[in-house]
Amino acid sequence: MSTIFTQIVDGEIPADIVYENETTCAFLDANPLAPGHTLVIPKDEYTRIDDLPADVARELFATVHRLVPAVEDAVDADATTVGFNNGTAAGQEVDHVHCHIVPRFEDDAGGTLHSALGGPTELADDDRESIAADIESRV
Ligand code: AMP
Repeated sequence: MSTIFTQIVDGEIPADIVYENETTCAFLDANPLAPGHTLVIPKDEYTRIDDLPADVARELFATVHRLVPAVEDAVDADATTVGFNNGTAAGQEVDHVHCHIVPRFEDDAGGTLHSALGGPTELADDDRESIAADIESRV
């Protein structure tokens, strides 16, 4: 069973597609958090960012980079919040990588990514250093 986003790419269900190229596609979110809320996806199905081949990841970010100013200009936004819910625990509901581009306005009621996640976590210096070393060893 293909994802709902693959069905959009294949033209099986309607969507407001605003850009596409060989590798990626961008369309308006059906439940927008703000006017112009846009999703950018790879056309092929990958569930999470870590599943993306490097060349597709580059193309995906190139499309995000292209879309951000277009979205902001189209709705006269002051800024955008750009991000991925990457995995179920992070709130990802559609198992097909997608980047949210959400227009933001000086007086809107939205918070920051920090506020969505409840603010900073207390971390001892030793733990922070150990985590940094662990990440460094894996990249
Ligand atoms: P996430 O929680 O990050 O997986 O977000 C999934 C997003 O997909 C939500 O913002 C939905 O509103 C959006 N969405 C679901 N179905 C459709 C659809 N058919 N067309 C456009 N956006 C959709």
